[in-house]
Amino acid sequence: MAQAVDPHLELKTLALWIGGKAVAATSARLGDVTNPATGKVIRRVPMADSTDIAAAVRAARAAYPAWRATPPVRRARVLQKFLALLRTNATDIARVVSEEHGKTVPDAVASLERGIEVVEFACGIPHLLKGEHSENVATGVDAYTLRQPLGVCAGITPFNFPEMVPLWMFPLAIACGNTFILKPSEKDPSAPMKLAELFALAGLPAGVFSVVHGDKEAVDGILNHPDIAAVSFVGSTPIAKYVYETGARTGKRVQALGGAKNHAIVLPDADLEFTANALVGAGYGSAGERCMAISAVVAVGAIADPLVERLRAKAEAIKVGPGDVDGVEMGPLVTGQHRDKVRGYIDSGEREGATLVTDGRTCRVPGCEDGFFVGATLFDRVTPQMTIYKDEIFGPVLAVVRVETLDEAIDLINANPYANGTAIFTRSGGAARRFQNEIQVGMIGINTPIPVPTAFYSFGGWKSSLFGDLHVYGTDGVKFYTRTKAITARWLDADTAGPSMQMPTLG
Ligand code: NAD
Repeated sequence: MAQAVDPHLELKTLALWIGGKAVAATSARLGDVTNPATGKVIRRVPMADSTDIAAAVRAARAAYPAWRATPPVRRARVLQKFLALLRTNATDIARVVSEEHGKTVPDAVASLERGIEVVEFACGIPHLLKGEHSENVATGVDAYTLRQPLGVCAGITPFNFPEMVPLWMFPLAIACGNTFILKPSEKDPSAPMKLAELFALAGLPAGVFSVVHGDKEAVDGILNHPDIAAVSFVGSTPIAKYVYETGARTGKRVQALGGAKNHAIVLPDADLEFTANALVGAGYGSAGERCMAISAVVAVGAIADPLVERLRAKAEAIKVGPGDVDGVEMGPLVTGQHRDKVRGYIDSGEREGATLVTDGRTCRVPGCEDGFFVGATLFDRVTPQMTIYKDEIFGPVLAVVRVETLDEAIDLINANPYANGTAIFTRSGGAARRFQNEIQVGMIGINTPIPVPTAFYSFGGWKSSLFGDLHVYGTDGVKFYTRTKAITARWLDADTAGPSMQMPTLG
């Protein structure tokens, strides 16, 4: 009788990146990496255990003293070479992202570019690390601060931006003089390996940057390792909260960015065509798998009917297909499980009484029958009580909520537990100014649908969208990956007057 053949036997298993090279994991546990456009398993990923994490930490600890002592301007030169390599390899990286994530290649190129902007920012590290200095705070006494690295830092990142979100973290952490261990999403782990290879080619010393793949076991290995000083996390809210609490309990500095439910208010005076285009891009781009995707449109007053009509026409015109095919505008969802979850939300919207204007469940892509596709879906007359309004769907589902006034729209957004990003579309400067002042959300767009701050600001939401104090990248990133030391110095060239037993004062 013929032997059953393991269909995955020939598939390549990814390595970890430790000590400046690709190494096999100690853990024998493997996961599947799937091409979401075809539904086929394309490679396997090792699920690191605490032994693998310990090996990465050992390499990072060994590399730390020399890297910390490397002058910031020399660290910046390595980053500049890395930056150039990222640009020349952008299309290759984007293709791998598209293959494992599903998003279109142009979208992957653009997301990579947003990550590269953080590398550009990190190249300015000599300037960013400047401390403060006050001469003569007391007679003959100077005071100043130093900004010093923390040691070994770690990053844990989500599937939806396998290149951009890691780039939010490790270039800046490393520029600050830390060493860094990245645990990317196990769903699309190949792009981070390419980043590690390019950084090594740029001249980064071995051990300064490592990549360990895996799931909860690897994350717990990081959270419980006593020699990791800080953890940056980006992912869903329940895991963000878990990472924040567990990391804090084990004495680490943690920033943990969570999920989102981003609203766009459309006022009656908004430019209808411009707004509809912006909402379709922000709602359905990357199949809605963006933490800054718009998922709730708050239509104020009479604009609702014409807005819904334009959104419907544009949503139905979106070209869905594999992300690497020219002209395709929206790819599949990341896994079959996620596709089923998103379809389940569309079922629940119908069941709970929302008006289903365009139904993505019927989407079929010829030649990709096993792919994880859901078409652009539009609901109208959604209420805050409905599940499709309350939950982060993370798929191509746009929900229109109708209200009568700007006050009602602001109250609705402020009542939401998530507070990542939001936008307003209007021609009224007064309304926009009121909105930016009163809205309880971390990142605001005015006639801008996905207000991801540029690299020299910082990215982060409020409420359940962020646990911790400091946002990622930008000046907050520099603060997160360093700690300040305050020095008070007196250099004597005269006799002292003997001991003083009272608290030193200025003057
Ligand atoms: P996720 O929370 O499932 O996974 C994120 C990371 O945590 C991954 O590396 C994963 O391996 C790990 N992980 C998963 N389950 C774990 C567990 N039980 N214990 C410990 N670690 C675990 O998120 P995802 O599905 O990869 O990404 C989508 C989510 O990320 C969405 O909620 C999205 O809004 C959010 N996100 C937020 C931002 C932001 O900046 N706020 C940016 C991108 C994505």
